[in-house]
Amino acid sequence: MHVLISGGGIAGLTLAYWLHHYDIQPVVIEQAQSLRRDGYAIDFLGTGYDVAERMNLIERLAAQQIPFEALLYVNSDGKQIARLDAALMRTLTEGKYMGLMHETLEEVLYEALAGQVEVRFGRSLVSVEQGPDGVVVTFNDGTSESFDLLIGADGVHSSTRALVFGPEEQFSRYLGYTIACYPLADHYGIGSSHTFQMYNEPGRMAAAYCTPREDEILTFFMYQSARQERVPREQRLAHLREKFAGMGWLTQQFLADVNPAQKVFMDAVIQIQMPTWHRGRVALVGDACDCPTLLSGQGASLAMGGAYLLAGALHDSADYQEAFRRYEQQMFAFVQTQQKSGRSFARSFLPATPLGLFAQQTLMKVLLRPLFRGLLRRQFGVESLLSPQKQDVQRDKSGTAPHDNGTPPQLYIS
Ligand SMILES: Cc1cc2nc3c(=O)[nH]c(=O)nc-3n(C[C@H](O)[C@H](O)[C@H](O)COP(=O)(O)OP(=O)(O)OC[C@H]3O[C@@H](n4cnc5c(N)ncnc54)[C@H](O)[C@@H]3O)c2cc1C
Repeated sequence: MHVLISGGGIAGLTLAYWLHHYDIQPVVIEQAQSLRRDGYAIDFLGTGYDVAERMNLIERLAAQQIPFEALLYVNSDGKQIARLDAALMRTLTEGKYMGLMHETLEEVLYEALAGQVEVRFGRSLVSVEQGPDGVVVTFNDGTSESFDLLIGADGVHSSTRALVFGPEEQFSRYLGYTIACYPLADHYGIGSSHTFQMYNEPGRMAAAYCTPREDEILTFFMYQSARQERVPREQRLAHLREKFAGMGWLTQQFLADVNPAQKVFMDAVIQIQMPTWHRGRVALVGDACDCPTLLSGQGASLAMGGAYLLAGALHDSADYQEAFRRYEQQMFAFVQTQQKSGRSFARSFLPATPLGLFAQQTLMKVLLRPLFRGLLRRQFGVESLLSPQKQDVQRDKSGTAPHDNGTPPQLYIS
């Protein structure tokens, strides 16, 4: 079987790995000219961690993790209001937790494919035509090629989804926030303190955190906005300065110290909700079909878990239609639960009034304690989609045989 994967991010590279593992030869196209450097960090745990473990990648990832020791909520003078220790996260996850740069995860996944899977950079899809025997795609260089299947792993703003299922507006659900981030030289002692520091005012948040590079930090901004914004790259710094005017703590320094040529990552916080993730010979995986947003802390997990289950289903099923159905069935309920939890977290994440903010900070002081382990486990998405004890439940529900090879994709149904 000849499979084209559009998108060389977390989902696309994981899918390529597992398809190759099952002797299904994929080709990956990636629109960027090389691996991306988006410059943000992710909490890596749950399903993502489990899949990485099955790919023997934990040691390589751990060697490059962020030396994160604590999350601090601070006031405008930088004084600590509440604290969550990384040690508690490790306890909650039984040691299966890392803070990673998004780019580190992509690099390690890419290295795991080296020399085994063809990855074509600078390539994207212009058109897709499905026929009874295959799917014919045209690339941005004008060439055409035929594949048995096309998998869209091209992220939250997927063009595969747009070409095959319809425009983004049909499937996106805006959660009321814009986020932005960029790296800075660490003149503030945040990198060397190995912390993630966060400061809130009504409707907006500024934060900064350590990276694996001692002399660098990453800034992070989030604000409420009634309508979904699309800010052109060259206007992003000016836009941020306007939105964060007068904000306390180190916010004004962060905005003043940035190099004007610095690339700023900025996006609206949206979820992707679709009634189905496949049409004919085309299926979607990762943020392209199930983006839960950063507020759920589950995006990388759903991307890797989805890729793993899709590859397993293609290997095990009689045909691609059955495989797509099985993959969707295995993921759907879990995704809905994660998205729901992301939405409810979003509602209270940035209180709009001083009173709301006071209530949140008071609650935070109490909740970020070992005593509330159960709640914290749920909030941080510790549960894994691949849960050995649930394998039988899934087999009964789907009526399909379990996976072979001794490493079956197993499903947790919440
Ligand atoms: C600020 C921030 C913080 C986050 N924090 C967390 C966290 O703590 N924990 C967590 O699990 N998740 C987190 N996430 C979410 C997580 O990063 C995503 O869910 C995850 O990257 C999704 O993987 P993906 O492969 O589906 O998409 P992506 O990682 O976005 O990869 C998509 C790839 O497709 C490529 N592409 C796009 N369009 C095309 C095209 N037309 N043709 C070819 N290629 C294309 C892109 O260049 C990219 O390489 C966070 C996200 C953000 C923005």
